[in-house]
Amino acid sequence: MSASILVAEAVWKDIESTRSVSNDQLSTLHFLFGKNFERATRIVDQRGVKRISGEPSGRFIFQVVGESRRKEEYFCFAECYCACYSFFYDIVNRGEQLCCKHQLAARLAASLEACIEVKVSDEKLALLLSKL
Ligand SMILES: [Zn+2]
Repeated sequence: MSASILVAEAVWKDIESTRSVSNDQLSTLHFLFGKNFERATRIVDQRGVKRISGEPSGRFIFQVVGESRRKEEYFCFAECYCACYSFFYDIVNRGEQLCCKHQLAARLAASLEACIEVKVSDEKLALLLSKL
């Protein structure tokens, strides 16, 4: 794992324990993620992150709005996957970034408990995942 990922992980853990973001944490996240962090913050501010949880398993996936006027929504896992174009292009292909703004928004919203919580049956969640 890269040092940046470990640093980011430590910051997220701190935010999760206090449910707030200090100025120091903000500058660290900004240093690590740059413009993508600003974009993620805007998404969280407009309540653009849903956490869709299956019951009874508790497994979940995030659904995050994009910033374009069409307001597409992307399914993503905060740590490892997003269905958006940037994830495949900038992260998987070119390896230039750690994660996309949707993943960041998901992580930030989860850490601050700012997600819109949606409960579905496990069957419905499985169906959703099978379409990714
Ligand atoms: Zn994305």
